[in-house]
Amino acid sequence: MSHRSFRLYDTMTRQVKELVPATPGHLKFYSCGPTVYSYAHIGNFRTFLTADLIVRTAEALGWNVDYVSNITDVGHLTSDDQDGGEDRMEKGLKSKEGERFANVWDLAEFYADCFKEDWDRLNLRRPLVWPKATQHMREQIAAAEKLIETGHAYETPTGVYYRVGSFAGYGKLSGNTDREELITGARDVVRDDNKEHPSDFALWKKDEKHLMQWYSPWGWGFPGWHLECSVMAMAYLGETLDLHAGGEDLIFPHHECEIAQSEALTGKPFARHWIHTRFLQVDGQKMSKSLGNFFTVRDLVDGKGADPLAVRYALISQNYGVPHNFTMDLLRDATQKIERYRQCDEKARKAIAQPGEPNAAADVFVESLRDLYDEVLDAMCDNLNTSVALAKALEGTRVILRESSLDLPMAEAALQFLGDINDLLGIVSLDRNVPSASDTTSSVPEAWIEQKIQERAEAKAAKDFARADHVRDELAALGIELRDTPEGTTWKHRATIL
Ligand SMILES: [Zn+2]
Repeated sequence: MSHRSFRLYDTMTRQVKELVPATPGHLKFYSCGPTVYSYAHIGNFRTFLTADLIVRTAEALGWNVDYVSNITDVGHLTSDDQDGGEDRMEKGLKSKEGERFANVWDLAEFYADCFKEDWDRLNLRRPLVWPKATQHMREQIAAAEKLIETGHAYETPTGVYYRVGSFAGYGKLSGNTDREELITGARDVVRDDNKEHPSDFALWKKDEKHLMQWYSPWGWGFPGWHLECSVMAMAYLGETLDLHAGGEDLIFPHHECEIAQSEALTGKPFARHWIHTRFLQVDGQKMSKSLGNFFTVRDLVDGKGADPLAVRYALISQNYGVPHNFTMDLLRDATQKIERYRQCDEKARKAIAQPGEPNAAADVFVESLRDLYDEVLDAMCDNLNTSVALAKALEGTRVILRESSLDLPMAEAALQFLGDINDLLGIVSLDRNVPSASDTTSSVPEAWIEQKIQERAEAKAAKDFARADHVRDELAALGIELRDTPEGTTWKHRATIL
């Protein structure tokens, strides 16, 4: 494990502080995912990229990361509704784009699949699990029942509400402690005359006409949005998370409500560290369809022919903690930089196959790349300072490209540098996408498994047993069991728990 400390701004204590997992070197990390009622836009992806960079930095430090990111497919209420809140999924179905779906379930599945596609295209690491709110209904109902039992929630004719006044810590994350402010600032909080206090928020909505409904102790209905994250985070990561992330718009009320629910349920701190990504503007203005500056990943990649890695580069080029202005100039500039990495990669690969004459400057070359990588990692550990990290990494491409030819040690150092930069920043080439164990909708491609088996056979032939074992473990983690027979290695799916 690296000696470096990983420092991040913590929204709760309002300072940059060291990220310290409860178990050293093992990060339990939850990041709020999208509501799949339409395509995620590039502002959403800016937030998911912050989470991705945290995972990559932690891994570069040698940590294990349990990374969970949810998919909201029910219960996210619209903010502008006065008479009880409408589910965004239903609203999506009623919209122009929603017309092509037979029902809200199809719509949710379609946009969840699109979201995962965009996620892969922008080279984000897949989480350990991508749980959906609809897959965790039992836990949400149980949590609401327990909150009623302990006096933190109550039933009304329209639903079950969290009694905000019962939780002294309400407001500690956002600083919204003024009760009057809570009422006027309470976006997504259902207005209902039966509530004890206007800032109380819904855990369950009674609704027999809702397109997605479940039977509960309070009759047919659906859960409030905030509850899903509390139960899914705790189901996969335990009662106290090391780090919880999301966009800045989630600080209040979403994360404030998650804290109130979770801490009332367990009596323990919900998360040790909170991180939020500032908003993204396009051409200096809030993204909006009417202004023509609203972009999804597919608008840029399929519509404008942008290189997905350049989109990624442009989105991470500004530090997460300040608002980011995305422009087409920025994207063009990022495209040129991605091209430089491609040139370096090509040059290094050619030189590995056909090295140049031994070069007297090789030692200096090797050392400068090593030093530059250290500086890149230092910058990432300094509150994810991506603007410095990208600048330092780019210096490495200058070091590689200015040499007229690379000898073998130089070629190896260049490939190592590019691989390390790619692991940390994801900007050199697409990672080979490792299918997620929990991804039940798409099973692991057979060709990929065969390729892994081949890799393991080669490692064994080269007596590199550590690597061979690593491949076996990697497959085992995906529920694939290997069996060595005299005729070769065969494999089968093991039943997975998740
Ligand atoms: Zn959430």
